[in-house]
Amino acid sequence: MTAQLNPRGDVAVLVPAAGAGLRLGPGTPKALRLLAGEPLLVHAVRRVAAAASVRLIVVAAPAAEIDAVAAMLAPVAPVTVVAGGAERQESVARALAAVPDDVAIVLVHDAARALTPPELIESVAAAVRAGHPAVIPVLPVVDTIKRVRSDGRVLGTVDRAALRSVQTPQGFRHTVLAAAHGAATDPLTDDAGLVENAGGTVTCVPGSELAMKITRPLDLVLAETLLHVPWPP
Ligand code: C5P
Repeated sequence: MTAQLNPRGDVAVLVPAAGAGLRLGPGTPKALRLLAGEPLLVHAVRRVAAAASVRLIVVAAPAAEIDAVAAMLAPVAPVTVVAGGAERQESVARALAAVPDDVAIVLVHDAARALTPPELIESVAAAVRAGHPAVIPVLPVVDTIKRVRSDGRVLGTVDRAALRSVQTPQGFRHTVLAAAHGAATDPLTDDAGLVENAGGTVTCVPGSELAMKITRPLDLVLAETLLHVPWPP
């Protein structure tokens, strides 16, 4: 049985969180790292559940941890937890298999982007609803980017104006994501890449600084601060 939030919503959100070893302590996977005493996955799911058009959330967890993850998320939102696969892409595919056909829009979201505002989730979904088959939230690249050889020698400077930093949630028409996963050959780090490889069109919408990926120690400090100060100011 698939747990539902807003039964009239047209969006399913998949959260792959089946990276190895869900135990806390050194080497804790990103999804379960603590932010203000709660796992990033809890923060992320809370914000996803606050987005009005979300009908259901499917989390992919390690097979051995399904019950623990379901218990962790039960007080936060009605969430369906499925067993993930060996690769992130397989985890997404398995979560996708739990989405009923009548859900028109599917978003894939990183648990590590724990402070993603519900407004961004809605704006990605709205762009898909408006007719774009695949949508990614992006920010401009602020650093100068260079291509560098493995020995450290600079090969050239990339035109920054044409580059974007890509966030999640990435949004898709359900049928488009299903077809892209069906056609996938090599594992990729994002789902829009599968659509690109299948010849599909991917469209950018403005991202949010709050949707940053919390990966480095400094990100955790920044995220803790953001929980206590109004942002944008
Ligand atoms: O390892 P990486 O940082 O690319 O993982 C990105 C996300 O994909 C993490 O949230 C991780 O839990 C998830 N993942 C997964 N299934 C795997 C491997 C990673 O759901 N087999």
